Amino acid sequence: MLALGRRRLQDAAARSAMKENLLRDEICELGRSIFARGLTHGSTGNISARCDEGWLLTPTGSNLGRLDPARLSKLDWQGRLVSGDAPSKESFLHLAMYQERERNQAVVHLHATHSVAVSVLEEIDPADVLPPLTAYYVMRIGSLPLVPYYAPGDLQLAAAVRGFAGKHHALLLANHGPVVAGSSLAAAADAMEELEATARLYLLLQGRRVRALTPEQVDAVGRRYPAG
Ligand code: ZN
Repeated sequence: MLALGRRRLQDAAARSAMKENLLRDEICELGRSIFARGLTHGSTGNISARCDEGWLLTPTGSNLGRLDPARLSKLDWQGRLVSGDAPSKESFLHLAMYQERERNQAVVHLHATHSVAVSVLEEIDPADVLPPLTAYYVMRIGSLPLVPYYAPGDLQLAAAVRGFAGKHHALLLANHGPVVAGSSLAAAADAMEELEATARLYLLLQGRRVRALTPEQVDAVGRRYPAG
């Protein structure tokens, strides 16, 4: 009986390790794709995902195009490093999102050019930065609050993010970049790309008269396909 119990435990541990290895590969593959398409630059941007007994995050100073699955940082729910390289200095952003959004499995934060450009415009509405230009934007993002600017390393940013994260899976950090959580890595990445594409459209349309979706059209899409 004891041997059987031990075998079951070993099987569960092996399954968990296999799942985590797949997740590590998925994070690195997503990083390569994001970097190759210029969605973030240099060593900016970080990707994380929940795993058994903690979460995985891209290490500090790493280039998303050249991630090593074995060296990803594994953290606990106090934000302490369990294994791997030292975590991104922006780990607190991810932890704040997970703490407020229990059902979300992954978080992507990028310094995506068009989203950052929108975050520095004077005339944007900080309660909801981008207009509902397309139904896909409503489905993937819904609404997008602007989180006030804090200097790099200022932990007040974590508190500010936590304040918004309960109600929003997508946030735009002023003069910095977007943070998006999702039900999976693919969902978080998809929503991030929709945000960046919509920010680009918004900038393309500056100075033009625009017909965004009406509140009734937004409600109809939101009811059928709730974002986040
Ligand atoms: Zn950043």
